[in-house]
Amino acid sequence: MITHDLTLLNIAVFVLIVFVTVLIAWHVIKTTVIQKQYDEIKKAKDDAESANSAKSRFLANMSHEIRTPINTIMGMNEMALREDASGVPREYYTAMRNYSLDIRNAAETLLSLIDDVLDMSRIESGKMRLVEQEYDTQKMLRSIVSMIRMRSIDKELTFDVSVDELLPSRLYGDQGKIRQILLNLLTNALKYTDIGGFSLNVSMPERHDDECLLRFSVKDTGIGIREEDIDKLFTAYERLDEEKNSDIRGTGLGLDISRRFAELMNGTLTCESVYGNGSEFILTLKQKIIDPSPTGVFTEHDESAANGPYVPQFIAPDADILVVDDTPVNLNIIKGLLKATRVFVTTASSGEECLEKIKETRFNVVLLDYIMPGMDGLETIAGIREIDPDLPVYALTANSANTEDFYISRGFTGYLTKPVDSIALEKAIMRHLPEEMMEK
Ligand code: ADP
Repeated sequence: MITHDLTLLNIAVFVLIVFVTVLIAWHVIKTTVIQKQYDEIKKAKDDAESANSAKSRFLANMSHEIRTPINTIMGMNEMALREDASGVPREYYTAMRNYSLDIRNAAETLLSLIDDVLDMSRIESGKMRLVEQEYDTQKMLRSIVSMIRMRSIDKELTFDVSVDELLPSRLYGDQGKIRQILLNLLTNALKYTDIGGFSLNVSMPERHDDECLLRFSVKDTGIGIREEDIDKLFTAYERLDEEKNSDIRGTGLGLDISRRFAELMNGTLTCESVYGNGSEFILTLKQKIIDPSPTGVFTEHDESAANGPYVPQFIAPDADILVVDDTPVNLNIIKGLLKATRVFVTTASSGEECLEKIKETRFNVVLLDYIMPGMDGLETIAGIREIDPDLPVYALTANSANTEDFYISRGFTGYLTKPVDSIALEKAIMRHLPEEMMEK
């Protein structure tokens, strides 16, 4: 009996020793190996997150740095285009105007390249949003066609445009993204076609009371795409036949962004192609109808805009506008763009100066550069809001990565991107001027 008890005790002691040993071993493993692995994974995750946010910051900064000089180039060029040509020899004027139009084209291409890089990073970080607004159907298409027309003539390619006359004249949707997709498709048609030409066809397969389905087809007689490559087309950074196409510039981003934009708008972007014969890209999407009256025959040139001096959307000599920017050339550009409206422009070169001027004068609208040395746009707007909570203040920004909500939540009334578009600038100001102050 005693022997039996001793054996049981031995077993119990043995089990206890094993248990304690396992516990100690587990503790040692946990505190050393597992903890070490955990630390390593956490560090890798933290590193990846900080590298990603550094990339986003870098892209936003780069976009700002590149947009700032482009702003100067485009603004100055726009002023050259608007110069009064009376008394200038015709030939000289034509040559200068053509140079200016080429500068405008090149600057717009550069801008769309930066936008592509930024768009890609926004898509990758899930920050891409729709910016929907009302727009004039014919005007939107005209601006696209006129950008491509000159380049098709230079390359001696035909460019046929046919637009359904029954399209509603005003629609609601993200016209910026539609423009970007179509410009990308047309630019590709132009780049990858050497003989023959390409066409843009816009039709309306379906129409309901307040919504219509649009179909845009871009068809070319270019190099075409192999059947097995069609899926690769819409992959970021992927370019086909790199060796053969080495003289054609591109980043391989355009079609990937275009398809994602189409999907964001609940639309589709597809491609059909015969290698060696040409390709057709088809974009379909729905848009809300604002004004159902038909657009009528598509006219490529808006004659009123092409000839004669620039006609602003309003004239208001009694309006007081304050522009705040630390770069003198930017102040000159805004002044130049607003010259035709005859508004009175006061300038300030810092946040401090802006606050002083606001205390002295009641301005109708303030245009405030977002990034300035010393007191920046954010600090300045906070100061302005203490003095006057209702003053209309627009942020001027070369960083196109932030949405309107971002600026509104920080106290601004809205924002304008650099290079400043003179129509958007005039529209923003018009919104805050009393009717009796304006002559339209
Ligand atoms: P990119 O033109 O900048 O290289 P895209 O994403 O717009 O980038 O196009 C991806 C690739 O698809 C191009 O590099 C080209 O090989 C091919 N591609 C696009 N459009 C056409 C076209 N119309 N005809 C032939 N190949 C095309």
